[in-house]
Amino acid sequence: MNNISSNNDQKFIIAVSKKDFSRHGCVNCNCEKVKKLSNDNGVKAVLVECYECGTKFVVLEDGFDCSVDKGFDAYGTLKFNNAILKNELAYPFKEDHPNRNPKHSYVKADLKPEYGEYFYFNAIRCNHLSAYVQSKEAGLRIIKMFEEQTQKKAEKDKFCFVSGTKPAVMVLSNENPNLIELKIGYSEKYKVNIEILRNLTEKTKIITPEIISQAQNFMINLNKSILGFVIER
Ligand SMILES: [Zn+2]
Repeated sequence: MNNISSNNDQKFIIAVSKKDFSRHGCVNCNCEKVKKLSNDNGVKAVLVECYECGTKFVVLEDGFDCSVDKGFDAYGTLKFNNAILKNELAYPFKEDHPNRNPKHSYVKADLKPEYGEYFYFNAIRCNHLSAYVQSKEAGLRIIKMFEEQTQKKAEKDKFCFVSGTKPAVMVLSNENPNLIELKIGYSEKYKVNIEILRNLTEKTKIITPEIISQAQNFMINLNKSILGFVIER
């Protein structure tokens, strides 16, 4: 199904009742989780986008139709003031839900690059680096990656990003299931590690065990040279 079909510059969007939506979810794939693209500004029709398949459709308050007295104009069109439709007119047409299967909960696709894992740098905060990852599964694999690398380093050189047993933790958002955040902890004296980690991942958006190791080794080498110089003066 097309997200929004266009015909002679008119945008046709399927509109379903709220009742149908609450039973069957997305009009295309039955996913229950959608993002609101327009505000419910008294029109009682909300443009939404499915998190799973990206289909856009309209959810109408129960008992409402695409009719004039409910905010639609005489032609059944509705103006959505949002960035997605850029203030264009859309033509919602009300239908019974086209896919009558029961709704299912949203699961983010577990995509992987050829090697390593996707890792979208977000920010460096006072005690952790924040990054978003592709899926819960990917988050767990990256946590394992950090644990393995920090264990190796902890035994060998006593250096790691954090002093605790958990170098990385995953944080899920109730609001937006696409935001799966990882927090990589660090203490102040390893700040340069985390900066290197940022530099090595920010552009490529990929993390690998080698990158984690490289960020740690940078710190070790730097410390050795600085300490060596300071102590032996
Ligand atoms: Zn969908």
